[in-house]
Amino acid sequence: MDEYFAAATAGPPVAARPPRRPLLLVSLLVVLALTVAAGAVRVSRARAAVGSPLHAVTAPATGGWGPTYVDDQGRPARWDPCVPIRYVVQPDWLPPTGRADIAAALGRLSRASGLTFLDEGDTHELPSRKRPAYQPQRYGERWAPLLIAWAPAGQTDLGLGKRVQGVTVAVAVPGKNGGSLVSGQVVLDASRPLPGGFGPGATEGEVLLHELAHAVGLGHVQDPTQVMYSTTTNSESEYGAGDRAGLAALGRAAGCHPAPAPKGVRG
Ligand SMILES: [Zn+2]
Repeated sequence: MDEYFAAATAGPPVAARPPRRPLLLVSLLVVLALTVAAGAVRVSRARAAVGSPLHAVTAPATGGWGPTYVDDQGRPARWDPCVPIRYVVQPDWLPPTGRADIAAALGRLSRASGLTFLDEGDTHELPSRKRPAYQPQRYGERWAPLLIAWAPAGQTDLGLGKRVQGVTVAVAVPGKNGGSLVSGQVVLDASRPLPGGFGPGATEGEVLLHELAHAVGLGHVQDPTQVMYSTTTNSESEYGAGDRAGLAALGRAAGCHPAPAPKGVRG
């Protein structure tokens, strides 16, 4: 199991290595970073294991929305909208409005997508590149829940700092009906606090809306009026028409999409 996840986070060697045992699922890991500079500049970085049926989409979409991952047939990876997306919160560096902002952001995400979210409480896991997507001792025989955290840049290796305000890791596995998002992490920079809420300018709420949309399968767009644009804006933080179209396309309207069980994953 460790080998599997180590390989998944290590990148390209996954594709080059001939399977000695039934490798089954090859996980992809993508890191999409949101930076804030004077409320106006974001950049993104992405890295992914390649060579599996899933591919990380790194170029910003020219249309209203784009996916985080597609398979060889162009189908976007998505969560199963017929079961709640379970999440846990790392509370150690939570800002004063953190819980309210998480609840509000997930509420907006749910209304736009039809996806539902289930709070499984707090965790003291730290966001990390090495966080296994399957932790049976901690979470049981299922995929690890989505981890939502604030952390100082020095407390995580996910690339916060240097104007990177938020990072999302979205874990997807391939499947015969298209890829399944099964786990992930969203971390915001606690060492550079922003105003709470969703008002004008760069806010914790805006960063949450952006990162959580990554976590449910949206990639960047070239349209600066959308939350999924790769830089913050000075407008009110709310999903735009393109964001909503993407969230709808990846949500309940797309139908049930059962994910492969993690017990099928072996290294
Ligand atoms: Zn982003």
